[in-house]
Amino acid sequence: MAAVTGWQEVADQVWVRRYDPYDVNVTVIAGQRQVLLVDVRTTLREAAELRGHIAELPVGPVSLVAFTHAHLDHCLGAGVFAGVPVWGTVGCRDALLALGPGHLESMPSWVPEEEHAHLRASHLVPPDHTFRDRQRLGLGGREVELLHPGRGHTDHDLVVHVPDAGVLVAGDLVEVGAPPQFDDAYPYQWPATLAAFEGFDPTVIVPGHGAVTDHLGVARQQADLARLATLCREVHGGIRSRESAVRRSPFPRATTEVALTRAADRPA
Ligand SMILES: [Zn+2]
Repeated sequence: MAAVTGWQEVADQVWVRRYDPYDVNVTVIAGQRQVLLVDVRTTLREAAELRGHIAELPVGPVSLVAFTHAHLDHCLGAGVFAGVPVWGTVGCRDALLALGPGHLESMPSWVPEEEHAHLRASHLVPPDHTFRDRQRLGLGGREVELLHPGRGHTDHDLVVHVPDAGVLVAGDLVEVGAPPQFDDAYPYQWPATLAAFEGFDPTVIVPGHGAVTDHLGVARQQADLARLATLCREVHGGIRSRESAVRRSPFPRATTEVALTRAADRPA
């Protein structure tokens, strides 16, 4: 499976790599004593390849893992890092426990046919270290903060703030090169959750998918999400038709339809 990019050192001792399929990002953050890996790809095969790529970096082996959220393209490869503490929000752990092993039998529609066997051979690893709002981790000469900034792409998104490097690893709260995904999302809350990023004043923002971005890229996505939230409010308030909302949405039809449905399930 070809990588979209090689390692990109986005700040001192912080590396990002983009992988096909799904153009998904992984991030490695190194201190003097610990190496934190954020997200682990989708299958054991992909994660084994990732581990090989991490060995090319001037750091020791991965000693901490964090999941940005419970979607399988971010966390299903974790079995490769057996014995390494896995951090996630309480909601992430609960979401993975709720899926259960049978989940991999009903293959998600976004998984390419040739990946089905690899996905079935992998297994869910719920985080064994959890937090609700905020958790500091010392990496040796560097402290990072794991945060749950609020509801957005899911009800349990985790972001990693590396204050000394000006880096924020955003998971799927931020998408670049593809529309945000609303299947488990909170359309009314997502814009405010992104607004909280401003307080960290990050220079580099690592999206869940696509190229690394900055606060301007996030501000654009936040404006689009706020526009969509307004359209959802108008449709569900009976003052705009669904079709009109789809036409005026900053996102494609399919994305907008899912967001409208989610907004109806999860009112502001
Ligand atoms: Zn996701």
